[in-house]
Amino acid sequence: MSKKKVILMSTGGTIVSSGESATQTTGYRLGELSINALLDQLPDLKDKIELEQEAVSHVDSSSMTSDIWLKLARSVQRAVDREDVDAVVITHGTDTMEETAYFLHLILKTEKPVVITGAMRPATALSSDGILNLYNAFQVALNDESKGQGVLMVLNNTIGSARFSTKTNTTNVATFSGLNTGDLGSVIDNAVMYFNRSTRPHTLATPFSVHDFDEDESFPRVDILISHADDDDKLFDAAVAIGAKGIVFAGLGNGCVPQKVLPGVIRANAAGVRVIRSSRVFTGPVFNGLSEWEEAGMISAWNLSAAKSRVLLQLALKKGITDVETLREMFERY
Ligand code: ASP
Repeated sequence: MSKKKVILMSTGGTIVSSGESATQTTGYRLGELSINALLDQLPDLKDKIELEQEAVSHVDSSSMTSDIWLKLARSVQRAVDREDVDAVVITHGTDTMEETAYFLHLILKTEKPVVITGAMRPATALSSDGILNLYNAFQVALNDESKGQGVLMVLNNTIGSARFSTKTNTTNVATFSGLNTGDLGSVIDNAVMYFNRSTRPHTLATPFSVHDFDEDESFPRVDILISHADDDDKLFDAAVAIGAKGIVFAGLGNGCVPQKVLPGVIRANAAGVRVIRSSRVFTGPVFNGLSEWEEAGMISAWNLSAAKSRVLLQLALKKGITDVETLREMFERY
C-alpha cells in the first residue's frame, strides 16, 4: 500500500498539556510538551503515512484568537493546495475547538479531509484520551469517505461535523456531540464508519476564502450577550460604544427578547450593528419570533449556536455583507 502524505498542524491544548500527577485532570497548564511525544507512541503510523508537521501556535484554546484562526487557515489552505498532500490533521484545545473548526469549515477551499482533534485529559493523566484521539484522527484523515465532508471533529471514537458538533460537558471525555443532528460517524479500532452527511454548504460552496484577508488584518468585533432574568439594554449600548460591528444575542427559549432589551437592539440596528437572535438553549432552532424583533433587524440563527453564529457573522461582515436580508439568507443557508 502506498503511503499517504498527511500534514499535522499543532496549535496547543490539553492534548499537549501535563499535570503534576497521573490523577490530575483539571487545573493543569500548557507546558513544553510537544506533539512529538504523542506521535512516538502511535502504532503502525509510519507504515501508512508520510508525515510533515507544522507548529502553528502553542496556546490553551481558551485563549484562542481570530489572528491564530487566520494563520491556521492560511497554513491549511497552503497544505491542501499542494498536489502531494492527501489530508490535514490539526491538534487543538477542546474549549474553542468547535469555533476554529467551523471557521475552517466555512473558509477552506478543498475537498481533501481536514480533521481536528484534541484531548480532555492531559497527556500525563490516567486514561489520557489524546493518543487514541490522534490515532483515530489519522484513520479518518486517511479514509476516502472523509473527502468533501468539510472539517471533521474526531474525539472519543466519534466523527462530528464542524457545523453541528459542540462541547457539552466540562470534563468528560464524551463531551462532543451534534446535539441537534447527531454525529457523522464513528471510528473504532481501524474501522471508519459514516452514517450521516453534513447537509449544510461548506468549504468549496461558501463565498469565504483566506484571500478575503490581507496579511495582519483582523476581524470586525462581534460580541455575544447571554440573556437572563432582569436583562436590559445596557450591555447592547456598551457593546456598540466599544465598537462592536455585530452582536449575537443568546436569547431565552426560542430566542426570546426581554422587553427591556429591545430598545437596545433597535438602537444597535440603527447604528448599523447587525444583531443575531440565537438562544442560550442548546437544542432546537430559533424559529419565528415577534414581528417587532424582525422589525428591529434581528436575524435568526436557526440552529447555529451563539459561538458559531459569531464566526459566521464575523466572516460575513468582513466580506462587506451588512444587509439584513442577505444576512438572514446566509444564516438560513449555512
Ligand atoms: N483548556 C483546554 C484547551 O482548550 C481544554 C482542552 O484542551 O481540553 O486548550
